Parts: sequence; structure tokens; C-alpha cells
Amino acid sequence: FDIQVVVRKGLMYSALTGVLVLIFYGSLGAGSFLLTRLLPGGDSSIWLFAGTALVLGLVFQPLREVFQHMVDARFFPEQRAFRQQLMDLASQLPAHGKVPRMGRHLVAQLQEIFELRSAAVLALDPATGILSPLAAVVHADEPIPAGDPLIISRQDPGIELLGKIQRPLPVERLTAKETRLAGLLERYGAALVVPFFGAKTLSGLLLVGRKRSGQQFRAEQVDMLGFLARHVGMVFENARLYESATYDSLTGMLRREAVFERLAQEIRRAFRYGRPLAVGMADMDFFKLVNDNHGHPTGDITLKRVAQALTGALRGTDFVGRYGGEEFLLILPETDLRSATEVAERIRGVIEAMACRSPDDQSFQVTISIGLATLSLEGGDGPDALERLVQQADEALLAAKSRGRNRIETYPVTSTD
Ligand code: GH3
Ligand code: MG
Ligand code: MG
Repeated sequence: FDIQVVVRKGLMYSALTGVLVLIFYGSLGAGSFLLTRLLPGGDSSIWLFAGTALVLGLVFQPLREVFQHMVDARFFPEQRAFRQQLMDLASQLPAHGKVPRMGRHLVAQLQEIFELRSAAVLALDPATGILSPLAAVVHADEPIPAGDPLIISRQDPGIELLGKIQRPLPVERLTAKETRLAGLLERYGAALVVPFFGAKTLSGLLLVGRKRSGQQFRAEQVDMLGFLARHVGMVFENARLYESATYDSLTGMLRREAVFERLAQEIRRAFRYGRPLAVGMADMDFFKLVNDNHGHPTGDITLKRVAQALTGALRGTDFVGRYGGEEFLLILPETDLRSATEVAERIRGVIEAMACRSPDDQSFQVTISIGLATLSLEGGDGPDALERLVQQADEALLAAKSRGRNRIETYPVTSTD
């Protein structure tokens, strides 16, 4: 709360309003005087007088706003620039795509704009109550605080207060309460806690650290942070909805619908330019045994690692998605059957070499079988082209399974006997 700025601004706006009011009444008086002079016969001049008063009344507020902008630009350029920076930050945020990247951009920009010692953004999962750090920045000479997730109840007094008040709170208001947040806020050196909301429920917190200069936040800055948080809540919520529709939550890979969409695009492209296109259907071998022998959670972790290995082993122009449980669909644009076999062999080797360990410290291995098919440019590029291609890759996969697993087969499947 900067009393000097408030007083200066208050005086300027009062003077401005005073001048406008004087002009307003001055022109009313002059207008009515002229009218009575020019138009004898009082009736019409009363109507004209009332009309002029109405017009002046209507333009008064817009006029005041225009002048206020001019005063802000002329006498408070810093605050105007600061407001502009926050607006720019808000509008650029969606361009960063995924929530964690947006989070990193957000804290980095906040630190720069306010010259903060630290800033962090935490995401709250309303279903589980897990409050986890998305991104944090600190002043160069300080260590980044360990960002362990915290499980927090909806009845936590701090969370209740933030949910009720819905605007930035000085950290003391929260630490004064018996709240689980206190330790976390201290670790991040927060000065202000700004809640943000997605679909009406609290979905995260912006932790704004102290300014490097030691100055307090001005009331206007706190308001702007509240505005920014409303925007952040909306943008994060939209991104999350998009992500959950596009990416699989366990592996982070494209979901079946999204990978099909991508395949449809690649098929159209391949037909248009007469380019080769290969697809692979991959399925883990005896994966049920991993679950049976080591438990479902270990199965999940293994699947995650397989997904990472698959993504890492592919080229930048390839795509992979989770087709089903432990099945993956590979899209290899610009690739003929021979090169696709090389890529698939590399993947097979990487998965086979992966060292897996169960919680009871047993080591085990997993393998993958892959069926490959390439797009035939003779067939039409109608909707059945996609179906046909996937079916052919599936057929090759079946052959790989029946011929011993941990191997690659290609369509058309050649007879072995
Ligand atoms: P095959 O070599 O014939 O493919 O044998 P398989 O055991 O892998 O058989 P199948 O592909 O039919 O079975 C898939 C198994 O994968 C069933 C299920 O136990 C497991 N599975 C599928 N999705 C998941 C998952 O998300 N997490 C875990 N832990 N297991 C999964
Ligand atoms: Mg399997
Ligand atoms: Mg399967």
C-alpha cells in the first residue's frame, strides 16, 4: 500500500473531475443563456436545455476515462507499463501449450516483472487433495526449495479461507491460522498467496515471494495479481481438459483417438504427395505375468517406462500412442517397410535391454512384439484406408506372437512352412 501514489493519484483524479464538472456546468450555463437569447419563447428552450444536459451527462464518464488514461500514461508510466506486462503475460500463457510449461513461464515472468526473490505455482488436484509444485523460481543465491507434494484436506482452515475469499491474501493471514500450508509457504518465501480456480473449485495457488527491494506490494498490484489468477485458472482448466482428451494419464502418450486422428492426417499426406507411410502395432509379451508376479502397481510403472523407451527410441518425426492396455500404435511417416523394420528392431532391442525391478527387489525383463504394415497407394484414400492399415499391422502382430514373441513381423505375413 503506497500512500504517496494513492494521494498523488487521488489529487490528480479529483482535480480532473473538478475541471470536467466546471466545464460541464459552464457549458450548461452558457448554452442555456445563449438559447434563451436566441430563441425567445421559453418552451422550446427548456427542451433544448434538457437535451444538452443529457448529452453532456452521457459523455461525462467516457470523457473522464479518456483523460484518466492520459493522466496515467503521462504521470504514472511505470504502473501503466507494469499493467501492460501483466496483460501480455496473461495473453501469452496459452501459447505455451502444456500446463507445466505454462507454469514455468508464469513464475519466470512474475519474478521478472515484480523483481521477486521467489515465485512458485502449485496445482491442487481437487479429487485427491494433492497440492504439488508445478514450477518455482528463486533468487540466484538461494537454493530451490524441495518440492514435495502435500496432501491437504478441503477442510484445512487455510484452504477454506482461500476458497471463500477468492483473492490474494498476505501470507500472515494464512500462517496465523492452524493450517498445513504454513510450512510450505515459508519454504517458498511467499509474501502473497493468490488462489486460482477451475470450474469454481480451487485448482491451485500462486505463491508470490517478497520483492528484492524489500518494498511492499501496492494495492493496485495486488488487484492485478487477482486478475491474473482468474485468467490463469481458466487457461489451466482449458489446457487440462484438452490434455485429458488428448494424452493418456498413465503414460503421457497420445490416446487412441488422438493417435488415430494423427494417422488419418498422415494417410492423407502420404496419398497427396505419393510418399511412403508405415505403421506398427506393438504389444507387450506376457504382460499379464508381470502383474501376476509383481503386482499391478509394478505393472503400471513398467508400462510407463516402456512408453518412455518407445518415445525415446523413435525419430522426431514419428508418432506413438497408447492403443489399448499394453498395446501401442506407431506411425512412421516417410518410411518404407525395410526402414520401418530397422526402427522396430531397435525398439525391440531397447525394451529387451531394459532392467526392471519389483518392490521386493526381484529383477525381471519384458519384451515386445511388433507387427508392421505400409500404406498401399493403390488402394483409395477413403476412411477404410486407415482401418485397413491398422488391421494389416494387427495381422502381422498376431504372426509375431504366434511365432514366439519378442520379434517383428511384417504384412503381408509370409508362410513359414
Ligand atoms: P501376450 O504376449 O499374448 O500379449 O500376453 P499378455 O499377457 O500380454 O496378454 P494380453 O496382451 O492379452 O494381456 C494384456 C494384459 O496387460 C492384461 C493386463 O493384465 C495387462 N494390462 C493392460 N493394461 C494395463 C495397465 O494399464 N496396467 C497394468 N498394470 N497392466 C495392464
Ligand atoms: Mg500382451
Ligand atoms: Mg494386449
